Amino acid sequence: MAFQQPQLPYALDALQPFLSREQMMYHYEKHQAAYFKKLNALVEGKPEAGMPLRELIIKSPPGPVFNNAAQAWNHTFFWNCMTPSGSGEPQGKLMEAIRRDFGSLKDFQKTFAEAAVGLFGSGWAWLTADKQGKLAIMPLGNAGTPLKEGKEPVLTIDVWEHAYYIDYRNERPKFAEAFWQKANWDFAEKCFADAVK
Ligand code: FE
Repeated sequence: MAFQQPQLPYALDALQPFLSREQMMYHYEKHQAAYFKKLNALVEGKPEAGMPLRELIIKSPPGPVFNNAAQAWNHTFFWNCMTPSGSGEPQGKLMEAIRRDFGSLKDFQKTFAEAAVGLFGSGWAWLTADKQGKLAIMPLGNAGTPLKEGKEPVLTIDVWEHAYYIDYRNERPKFAEAFWQKANWDFAEKCFADAVK
């Protein structure tokens, strides 16, 4: 197979009580696995099969290859945006940039949650950085990914219903609010540092 689904960086039950084992099992073992499976079937025997996933996403026109490649990549990024212990608050240069661009961490979290909740239908809310380190919140529908917009992702939340429906049913706002308990700011800081290199 050209593209292998990476291991989840923690156990399926490690994000409880934010996300149950069942919620994570369906999301990781069924939904993300299916994107990898479809992608592999689509690229089998084609030059795309030899490309790094990130490059494939950037080069693919809208269509099934892009959709499945982006969904495969977006989910791996999302798993890394959460950590079992939660990592408190962002530090250093990322915190400085959040204060500069959003006023405060609280203001950022409010605007990010509004973007996540306000996105019509399925998609992702992203915190992104440009090469100058300017932060922006981008709600993107379906398989939308900042890689396609020339921005570096720093943090994301999956707001497809499959991401929260087992645990939160129709209550996307509660899911978006609870996300901060497990947000992985260490990972976001690393992504931000890489974006401005
Ligand atoms: Fe998902």
